[in-house]
Amino acid sequence: MTRQYLTTSLICSVTDMKTIKGLIAAGLAETEAASRILRDESMKRVYGKYPELKDIDGKIIDIRKDRLIAVIDHDEKLARRYDIEEESLMSQREQIISDNDIDPEFDMEKSICTKCGDTGFVKGKDGTPRVCSCKQSELEECYESCGLGDYTSFTMKNYRDDYLGDAKKRSEIKKNMLRIMLGMGDAAEKPLWIYSGAPQTGKTYLSVCIAKTAISLGKSAFYTKCENIAALDDETIDDLKHIDFLIIDDFADDVTLHGDTGSVLNSVLEVRTASGLSTVLVSALPLADLIKGCDMRVSGKLSRAGKIT
Ligand SMILES: [Zn+2]
Repeated sequence: MTRQYLTTSLICSVTDMKTIKGLIAAGLAETEAASRILRDESMKRVYGKYPELKDIDGKIIDIRKDRLIAVIDHDEKLARRYDIEEESLMSQREQIISDNDIDPEFDMEKSICTKCGDTGFVKGKDGTPRVCSCKQSELEECYESCGLGDYTSFTMKNYRDDYLGDAKKRSEIKKNMLRIMLGMGDAAEKPLWIYSGAPQTGKTYLSVCIAKTAISLGKSAFYTKCENIAALDDETIDDLKHIDFLIIDDFADDVTLHGDTGSVLNSVLEVRTASGLSTVLVSALPLADLIKGCDMRVSGKLSRAGKIT
């Protein structure tokens, strides 16, 4: 369901937030059905060409049923006879398959994607699972529903440390943001972080890329501009309290004093901090100014936040 809402400066549309794991799970039934259809087609093709194989397979199924009855009936002698019959049919079957170069798995359900076995996740070089390339459309849909729809061209692959000068510092900030997103190092102790840097230093680009990376690693993540947070629907605001990673961009003291923004921020940050979930506030203003000028409730939280440098 798409909702439209109006904020002071722009019109945006958001869809209900979706997680990548949820989207992949939702597509699983479809993938299973597709693999069943492929198996049925393959059996129809092979049996059409080799009716003797179909005949043997039918006999094997019947023998197995009869054998089951013999076992329940404690007639071991009869069960053994069925075993011998099945063995003989199986070897005839294998002969037909090998003589005619038939795929020995023609009657089995196979994965549509050989890379991930239809699980949607593959292990990266470092051993951590990430979303398989076959789930690109699910990734796009997830980005769209997590505030990242307007940034299709922003990718970590294209992020350049040296693009806006001071490559070393930018690289360090990027690594720290990744650590926080993954809940590693200091981030394990401190859930709330401030990334403040001068305007036009690529903060939004990096923030978007980190949020996308989180999602591609199977995490639930959301990106929003601070001024838009109060306009999100209640369901999404509730989601923001529980997702793995949240980035609030264009964070500024005066925005927190506007309308319901301070109260929404306060309740979201309250729950997230208590649950140890990583949140990054991105701002063009220095932390000291933010603490001084923000909504009182938010200000209190900022004074305990970590600083990304
Ligand atoms: Zn795959």
